[in-house]
Amino acid sequence: MATASIDTRLNEKAADFVTHKHRMLIGGKFVNAASGKTFSVYDPATGEVIANVPEAEAVDVNAAVHAARKAFDEGAWPRMTASQRGRLLWKLADLLEANLEEFAQLESIDNGKPVAVARAADVPLAVDLFRYMAGWTTKITGSTIPISMPTEYLSYTLREPVGVVGQIIPWNFPLLMAAWKLGPALATGCTVVLKLAEQTPLTGLRLAELINEAGFPEGVVNVLTGFGEGAGAPLAAHDLVDKVAFTGSTEVGKLILKAAAGNLKKVTLELGGKSPSIVFPDADLKRAISGTASAIFFNQGQCCCAGSRLFIHEKVFDEVLGGVSAIAGKIRVGSGLDPQTQMGPLVSDEQFRRVTGYIESGLKEGAKAAAGGKRAGDRGYFVQPTVLVGTTPEMQVVREEIFGPVVCAQRFSDEDLDKIARQANDTIYGLAASVWTSNLSVAHKMAWRIKSGTVWINCHNVFDAALPFGGFKQSGWGREMGAEVLNNYTEVKAVTTAL
Ligand code: ADP
Repeated sequence: MATASIDTRLNEKAADFVTHKHRMLIGGKFVNAASGKTFSVYDPATGEVIANVPEAEAVDVNAAVHAARKAFDEGAWPRMTASQRGRLLWKLADLLEANLEEFAQLESIDNGKPVAVARAADVPLAVDLFRYMAGWTTKITGSTIPISMPTEYLSYTLREPVGVVGQIIPWNFPLLMAAWKLGPALATGCTVVLKLAEQTPLTGLRLAELINEAGFPEGVVNVLTGFGEGAGAPLAAHDLVDKVAFTGSTEVGKLILKAAAGNLKKVTLELGGKSPSIVFPDADLKRAISGTASAIFFNQGQCCCAGSRLFIHEKVFDEVLGGVSAIAGKIRVGSGLDPQTQMGPLVSDEQFRRVTGYIESGLKEGAKAAAGGKRAGDRGYFVQPTVLVGTTPEMQVVREEIFGPVVCAQRFSDEDLDKIARQANDTIYGLAASVWTSNLSVAHKMAWRIKSGTVWINCHNVFDAALPFGGFKQSGWGREMGAEVLNNYTEVKAVTTAL
């Protein structure tokens, strides 16, 4: 086992947490993996090991699923009132907020993102999500339904929790993804086995402590650390799990679907994207330039909804391309814990290789780098913010999700909105898009023509707990957040009485 080395910029609480012995939460207790095995967690800014966490395997998944099953079938949780459940969720939000700085620092050292971003976005959005879902606990209702039988009946529907939910999350927003998953599951009265991403387990493990501190009954939330094949796959396949909710790559989403077939558990998937940002010539160009740059470079481009295909009208192509490239050239790349840093390292060596591999493939296929195009620095997983031009629709860099700070700029000349929308929709994905224009009519006509779960107008990456988020086409099934997500965690029961 490698020894941990700790960044001295971490505050005392965060440093304490990183260095303490990590255990998983199963049935209300913090435990090691049954095998005793652990794996390493790396600081992506240095590539050094910072912690070791338990490596859950099928036996641990089974224990966690049984704990969740017992909590759902026999525990205090199903007997609790909706209002009590709401108060627990609210308390969790309060605890998280009280520890905001510690969570922001842990997220930064684990994932690489700038600590200022974690402080302003990841943690507050997670707090907000729990509060929003706390409000829903008392508002999950059915309806009374008139039926057309010849005699009198009373018919109504109930919305009941789907049961035990397996949740598998990625590494790009580790805490926020845990909140997106746990919030609605707990609001509806489900119990959960949450598997954290192997690259970024720290904030999820710390959240598990707060879940116990808040007073959730044992077994309601179980938190596992482990790999996809070793822990994710047995969770997705487990017969006692009623639903699996996954966020990650489209490729793994398809595996989840197959694994879930054994007991036909419900499945929701939030998968990849190749989202277009479309700039019309009448846009406020200053805003469009900074907005489309941020659409791709925010979170090191590791966002499923990153604006990775930049369509620019030919009349303003040079100006917008120049502006976005100038921003790319000026972004301060460095360790997430450095307060000056605007873009951190990619999350892992694997991700670094993947992203630099895509850049090389684009250049080899004839694209040119208007900005960036190389690794940054000589250690850690840093990549320069990169703008590729001269790309064609067939190139791998245009078709596939890169999940890094790489945007492919393309020009359009046609004023026909249907044609522009066809270009924007020419992808297997349908997660998000942004349209930049000062013409309201064009904005909404484009919003209607684009096939994706989110369309932003004159903005990108705007999230709120109240807004549903999810994908058309191969970007997924179901929605996260908003009232919509509650449907994904409830079953509808129709009750009919002959009067
Ligand atoms: P990425 O390629 O961005 O790392 P993945 O889709 O591979 O994203 O991973 C997202 C989550 O899915 C992680 O928690 C990972 O451990 C998990 N995972 C990976 N492979 C599988 C699998 N075969 N079955 C279940 N979960 C998996």
